[in-house]
Amino acid sequence: MEISQGVPDPPFLRNVGMLLTYHCQASCAHCILRAGPDRHEELKLDDARRWIRDIASYRDRYVCVLSLTGGEPFSNLDLLRSVMELAVDAGLYVSVVTNGFWASTKEAAKQLLQSLPKICFLSVSTDAYHQEYVPFDRVQNAIWAARECGIPYYVTIVTDNREDPDYRRVHSELLKSTPADEIRTGVVFPVGRALEMRDQLRFNVSEEPPREACQAASSPCIFPDGRVLGCIGPLLDLGDDQPLFLGNANETPLHEIFDRSESNVILHALRLWGPYRLFTMLRENGLGPCLPKTFVEGSTCNACYVLMAIPQVRQTLKKLAQSTDFQRQVAYARLHYLEETRMLDVAGEKVT
Ligand code: SF4
Repeated sequence: MEISQGVPDPPFLRNVGMLLTYHCQASCAHCILRAGPDRHEELKLDDARRWIRDIASYRDRYVCVLSLTGGEPFSNLDLLRSVMELAVDAGLYVSVVTNGFWASTKEAAKQLLQSLPKICFLSVSTDAYHQEYVPFDRVQNAIWAARECGIPYYVTIVTDNREDPDYRRVHSELLKSTPADEIRTGVVFPVGRALEMRDQLRFNVSEEPPREACQAASSPCIFPDGRVLGCIGPLLDLGDDQPLFLGNANETPLHEIFDRSESNVILHALRLWGPYRLFTMLRENGLGPCLPKTFVEGSTCNACYVLMAIPQVRQTLKKLAQSTDFQRQVAYARLHYLEETRMLDVAGEKVT
């Protein structure tokens, strides 16, 4: 599920995600990661220490923000606090994603936020799926507390269809306390735990992927087992043999993984043009018959996922990534549209 609307995400590699835990009080039906009360895999503090040091020293403090996510990061407060302290001591800003379960009262929520190192951004998730586990007043308390503490925030709602009455109800309830530009909507599609309810999902479909670029692929995410993916999206389900798998921090130093990601042609094509461009190139390369016939309307992540789930697609993308012409196109598009020069070396046009 990807999120649309609101402020643009930070530029490439200025924000790095870190998944603290797969544990969560909730086990939402749409959860990409299949997080829940029975999941206990979490980040080891020694790994966090090493990776945060590497992130903070990368390219002379290039990365600004560490985004902590889960699972539910607040479900292990000691770990959250320790990782936040490591990050702040290393000079990084910290943002956190949460479902707000901890906000039992306004005052308790405010005290908890005040007891943590300063959070630069809070992303609160709520929707019909979350509300089965986390009452809406807790979300409102968390929002209130964020405001009181001067923490910028946005609220994320997901739905399979914007006409869904539950989505509209949550959205209009939120509007009473939260400006529209601080509410983001994501599209649920069959991936992760949502695969189990695929027949009940009522999304609209289209014959082609949406013509939207992907901003989320600007922020790689490190998982507790060291895997680094180009985004915290559904591609985790596809294993390591796919273009958005960037490496494993337990095997390769993070700075090397980040450097390599600068020349990952497929990743940057997604940032520039979204999966639609890959779809058209795959068709031009004769893969039409094996490509999906329908895509979830408005979901770049669904398109990305269903394309990359096809082994022939992954093979063809590997070949495309070796094409000097395509490398040059992506390098110049990054320069032209995003003012990024790092890839011009790869394309043989060094800029000094
Ligand atoms: S890279 Fe693909 S899966 Fe990841 S956020 Fe972008 S569109 Fe979604």
